[in-house]
Amino acid sequence: MRLRSALLSFSLLFIGLLATATPQLAAQYPQPGPDRVYAIKAGKLVDPEKGAAETNQIILVRGKKIEAVGGNISIPADARVIDLSKSTVLPGLFDAHTHLCMTLKRARDGYSYFITTLMDSTTYRALEGVANARDMLAAGFTTVRDVGNAGNYADTALREAIERGLVPGPTMINAGRIIAPYGGQFRLQPEKRDLATPEYAFADTRDEMIKAIRENIHYGATVIKIVVDDQKYIYSAEDIRFMVEEAHRDGLKLAAHCWTRAGAHNAAEAGVDSIEHGEMMTNEDLQLAKKNHVVLVGTDFTESAARENGFPELHPVFVDRLKRAYQIGVTMAFGTDAFIYMPGETRGTQAAEYVNSWVEAGVPAKDTLRAMTINAARLLGVDGERGAIRPGLAADIIATPVNPLDDIQAVRKVSFVMKDGSVFRND
Ligand SMILES: [Zn+2]
Repeated sequence: MRLRSALLSFSLLFIGLLATATPQLAAQYPQPGPDRVYAIKAGKLVDPEKGAAETNQIILVRGKKIEAVGGNISIPADARVIDLSKSTVLPGLFDAHTHLCMTLKRARDGYSYFITTLMDSTTYRALEGVANARDMLAAGFTTVRDVGNAGNYADTALREAIERGLVPGPTMINAGRIIAPYGGQFRLQPEKRDLATPEYAFADTRDEMIKAIRENIHYGATVIKIVVDDQKYIYSAEDIRFMVEEAHRDGLKLAAHCWTRAGAHNAAEAGVDSIEHGEMMTNEDLQLAKKNHVVLVGTDFTESAARENGFPELHPVFVDRLKRAYQIGVTMAFGTDAFIYMPGETRGTQAAEYVNSWVEAGVPAKDTLRAMTINAARLLGVDGERGAIRPGLAADIIATPVNPLDDIQAVRKVSFVMKDGSVFRND
């Protein structure tokens, strides 16, 4: 009991500190009761599915959900009115590829997140996750898929804390430990073989693959993430198909990190739910992905993100692949892979900056917005609950001063954020 009350006062202190540091951000705790009603007056309301906006709409939010949307809605007497009549209102954004519980510090870690995982404890990374989650939400990202690198399941703890309203953050789909061939994404040395634990679950045989998937699910993963090709030996299409089937049998989707052409080809052939990165994909691979209903989460590194990662030469490669994928008609979901500390930026502002690559690739704003909302919601399997502004869905609602359909850069200037019916930001 004493421990519990100590934890409670720590949490309250922490929430208090957050509130002091960022006065414009309201805490998400306590969560709204079932009868709290908001009426949001939207100057413009964007429907990403249609790629169009309607003017002068009212969104009625009751408790955590959207109750009604339309131009002729009578506002209940007990409703709190939020006037966004000069703004454009849209569903909250998605980042389908993030690592909330890892932040690489360039001055200490160079370009190696191996060092990051050695230096930062799981406990510290959970706290970093709290801050990154808050910053993502402040930037308008109301749902994320966290694809691993969270130490010993810091991501599960963070997801549960957010779900309970203990800390503010986006809805999370989380991967737990990344499943990979021996060595994971690291170069180990034989005297220190255990240094990739707990970051990666090595799985080379079929038995190890099943076990790794089931362990992940047991410890709270809600998506399975595999690394196909960061070693000389890579997963075959048969290996990948085997893991997709096991994940699907258990009700989870599978995301496949593919940094090489061969890896992406195997993943496309196996019909994974999503290929992550895939920057080396040929048009043939992209066609195969399309045919097998594989979603591309391209993590299209901007010029500055590619430079910070130590691979500036890859920025044009990502943009070119993004352009080809769009032309071929591969379904795409927005994802960033932002995980490096940059002075003056937050995780959220960094993530939003990735729209620059989409602009450079010539993707129209309405399609970028689809990738940031409805496409991502479908990939994450939450489209029945989030990703649109529709009665019955969660009230994940943001606003921008400029209509993102006119200029997608508007999503970098989010001025209002409501998450599950709680106002988190209203500048
Ligand atoms: Zn990543």
